[in-house]
Amino acid sequence: MTIQTSSRPETVQSSPELVDLVSACPCPACGHQVAVPFYEGGAQPLATLAWPRSAEEARSMKRLPLAFRRCVECGHVYNTAFDYKEVPYSQNPNRMFNRGRLWQEHLCRVRNLIVERLPPYPTVIEIGCGDGHFLQALAQAGPAGYYIGFDPNSAAGTATHQVEIHRTLFDPLTHLAEYRPDMIISRHVLEHLMNPLGFMQLLAFAASWHEVEADLFLEVPCIDRVFETGRTTDFYYEHNSHFTTTSFTHLLQRCADVVELVERGYNDEVIYGLARIGVHPAQARCAREAIAFRNQALAMRTTIRQTLEQYIAAGKTIAIWGGTGKAAALINSLGLDADRFPLVVDSDPEKVGTFVPGTGQEIRFRDHLLLQPADIILIATQWRAQDIVLEIEQHHIPYQQILLEYRGRLVDYFADEHPYKLSASRALCNEKGSHHGHHRNRV
Ligand SMILES: [Zn+2]
Repeated sequence: MTIQTSSRPETVQSSPELVDLVSACPCPACGHQVAVPFYEGGAQPLATLAWPRSAEEARSMKRLPLAFRRCVECGHVYNTAFDYKEVPYSQNPNRMFNRGRLWQEHLCRVRNLIVERLPPYPTVIEIGCGDGHFLQALAQAGPAGYYIGFDPNSAAGTATHQVEIHRTLFDPLTHLAEYRPDMIISRHVLEHLMNPLGFMQLLAFAASWHEVEADLFLEVPCIDRVFETGRTTDFYYEHNSHFTTTSFTHLLQRCADVVELVERGYNDEVIYGLARIGVHPAQARCAREAIAFRNQALAMRTTIRQTLEQYIAAGKTIAIWGGTGKAAALINSLGLDADRFPLVVDSDPEKVGTFVPGTGQEIRFRDHLLLQPADIILIATQWRAQDIVLEIEQHHIPYQQILLEYRGRLVDYFADEHPYKLSASRALCNEKGSHHGHHRNRV
């Protein structure tokens, strides 16, 4: 027996298992798509938020799946079976008890870090402020300003003259513009969210859109010690997302411009970071471009339908050139039904005899237009427009006008400006091309 046969390379042994282990699902911290199983906790009841009132109620609590996977890129651990709707935040407060001395020291450290960065007369927002104790301490230690907490489950009457509490969810898309904060704080919130990276990137995008620059302070529980201790008690249902130093840093880097500080505290059981959210004009530009495109596409339907109605009212017959793919997309988006637009032709004999998806016109071969000429040929597929026009001319297909859609309206192929024209040189080149073709065919 040789060494080679007794110990096969590990990659060969593990490769069949890889199929069962690896799956593509987006990491809630970094967005990477490859994850492997990490901890199967079975089905367990809510651990901190249910507050059962009797032993019977406690025993009959709904069981929820704990299926934790780990991102291979950043090491983040998350429950792929988590459903935010199963967690009754609106009925019960999330009580985090710790009045210990070391915890108080941690809070002081964090408070001072934030205070150092506050400008005179700051606007400070805390997302998920609970009863506002931390914000209160911050307002007392920091400069005079606006200290505003958001938490739908904050008890009534927790506001003070220094701190304003809004008993509602913080919505980055509206509240950022409304308050234009200098500092945004979120402590022990992200681990509860379905998609913490999504939430933070929405916030960062809203900052770009509204041109708000702000400092960001985030704090979450840290699972770095889980690996050295092998403990599994961190993984219960309410905590969907478990940050390591790496995954927390990845999240910050993906939502902020400058990550100024990442630090663990309280015996490495929590991790916090300070970062700067800047304005990204390119993102705002891209969004504006998308919205303009959407508006134009919506307006196009009305404009083009009206134009076509006018042609039909004037007694013109219209043939649509193209019946599948992009052409079918145009026919369907404009609602060019078989009653008013029965004539659809295609250059491709393979498509002849089939029907336009959705509207049902029978697709005929282009030569049909020699037998049954149309006044107007509507080229429904811009990317082939030049070849279609060449084909029309080559086969002497009669027409009064050739139309195609450009920038939300129908343009005349020859008379109007558009980027799908046969240029003189291109036409010449095509001529030569076909001669070459003949030549080659002869050879
Ligand atoms: Zn990740």
